[in-house]
Amino acid sequence: MTSKKLAKAHYRIACQRQDTLHKLTTHVTRIYALVGLEDLNTKGMQALHSLAQAVSDASFFEVRRQLMYKTEQYGGYVQLVERWYPSSKTCSSCGWVDEDLTLADRVFVCEACGLSIDRDFNAARNIQAEALRLVADVPVVASSERKIACGAERSGSLCAESETVCCEAGTKVL
Ligand SMILES: [Zn+2]
Repeated sequence: MTSKKLAKAHYRIACQRQDTLHKLTTHVTRIYALVGLEDLNTKGMQALHSLAQAVSDASFFEVRRQLMYKTEQYGGYVQLVERWYPSSKTCSSCGWVDEDLTLADRVFVCEACGLSIDRDFNAARNIQAEALRLVADVPVVASSERKIACGAERSGSLCAESETVCCEAGTKVL
């Protein structure tokens, strides 16, 4: 393949990726009033060679950027969850923490309650719970009334579980 053809192919892939991200973030922000998002240290993660490709491919920065401005447009809200919150290591059912969990462990198995669940799904459930907890802690002031009202308008309650979506650093965005 000539360098010109290669450049064209790269450009086409970049456009397709951007298009996919836009469709995804538009879909999420049109449906969900609250988006829980882990506030990842993606620059630090990119410094780690083993994670670099995964982080780059997932385009976390771009997904976050789009979600931020699109939730604003649609009247939703992004609740960031602090990066040191142990979303992957904590059992989303009982709260037990697996201190020995490694990146190679793709299934979370709880030694306390027996829950066996996909690692990313477990983390997403924890981020959802933490996002809802943080939202509940936010005092209702003039600037946040609109967001809460918009959430209520869509779902009846901002805290309704079906009206939230949470993202985790893993193979899936949803
Ligand atoms: Zn458990």
